Amino acid sequence: MPSLDQVLSRLGATRAWQEELYLHLHAHPELSLHEEKTRALVATRLGELGYEVRTLGGGVVGVLANGPGPVVLSRADIDGLPVTEQTGLPYASTDTTVDESGDTVGLMHACGHDVHITSLLGAAALLAAEPGAWSGTFVALFQPAEEIAAGARAMVDGGLVDAVPRPDVVFGQHVLGHTAGVLATQAGPVLSAGDSVKVTVFGKGSHGSMPHLGVDPVVLASAIVLRLQAIVSREVPPGEFAVVTVGALNAGTKSNVIPDRATLLVNLRTYDTETRARVVAAVERVVRGECAAAGSPQEPTFDYYDQFPLTDNDPDVTSKVTDAFRAHFGADRVVPLGRVPASEDFSRIPDAFDAPYTYWGVGGFAPGTAVPNHSPFFAPLLQPTLDAGTEAVVVAAMAYLGKDLS
Ligand code: ZN
Ligand code: ZN
Repeated sequence: MPSLDQVLSRLGATRAWQEELYLHLHAHPELSLHEEKTRALVATRLGELGYEVRTLGGGVVGVLANGPGPVVLSRADIDGLPVTEQTGLPYASTDTTVDESGDTVGLMHACGHDVHITSLLGAAALLAAEPGAWSGTFVALFQPAEEIAAGARAMVDGGLVDAVPRPDVVFGQHVLGHTAGVLATQAGPVLSAGDSVKVTVFGKGSHGSMPHLGVDPVVLASAIVLRLQAIVSREVPPGEFAVVTVGALNAGTKSNVIPDRATLLVNLRTYDTETRARVVAAVERVVRGECAAAGSPQEPTFDYYDQFPLTDNDPDVTSKVTDAFRAHFGADRVVPLGRVPASEDFSRIPDAFDAPYTYWGVGGFAPGTAVPNHSPFFAPLLQPTLDAGTEAVVVAAMAYLGKDLS
């Protein structure tokens, strides 16, 4: 029997506990940087499977050393979102939490990270159960706080590079809107770099009836919003991808008071570092220029946050994994991922090891029924999504670790 088939022959046995685990995780999501119960559950399960378990940077990493050979690291993100679930599923989350502003908010795995956790634990179990079929080291990494772009960095800062053997290759996967059971791969940039910046511009407060005695930051901020629209249309080369969105604009409290400042929350998405630098520089130049034009009494400030790196799949790794997917799933179940304008902090992990990586999509929906990630209606099909996510990790890992048993 080929070694891959030997490892996957136990899928029937893991499927039962995986489905039960998925239903539990789906019903009990935890917010970014508050994944205590999820982390404990994962750590316990990895320990039971025989992995050497470390918790660091708010995440968990399990190492299974099984003789000489390559080191393969596979990563799952584990956080939920402050979204009130409206899927109507029998296992929908009804959990709530109190956010930083003191408001009670719903909790939901609205990005499918429960699929990622369950798939990676299943793959970890399958590999642990058949050590004779492969040789090398498998590292299962469970990362917190992907949604706020903090978790990968926290694990790297927490000592990840010294805690596990250096991987020869790193994998990540995400449930997306493709047909359930379909895998989506692509070499090169697949997820955009994302930057958020809080811009504060300053005016001079006055009575609403005496604008000539003040500097109106509402007018200033409005000019900035319009002028920012010209960055993508007039400064980014046609054919290059960039998005500049002003997601929030706040100033003032009352109709007859001219406030003394305005804030803008600006989101930027790009697919290469040169374009990113160009767009960031253009945003700052436009803001400073409009402030000068308005006679603003104080320099604007720029606070960058939620910064996601580019996800740029290694061509050789992607080609090897895609071939393995085609051989296992059949060519009709492997499609091009395309470029997704969303962003991920996944690549900080391989980049910390200077290791090549590939990140693929797992379809989760019946054709024509997909809703976007983060929607309160985001409800991936339990199967074949879980099986596909589990098999995908095993197939990719075995492309590097598998033994020829013939
Ligand atoms: Zn998400
Ligand atoms: Zn996600």
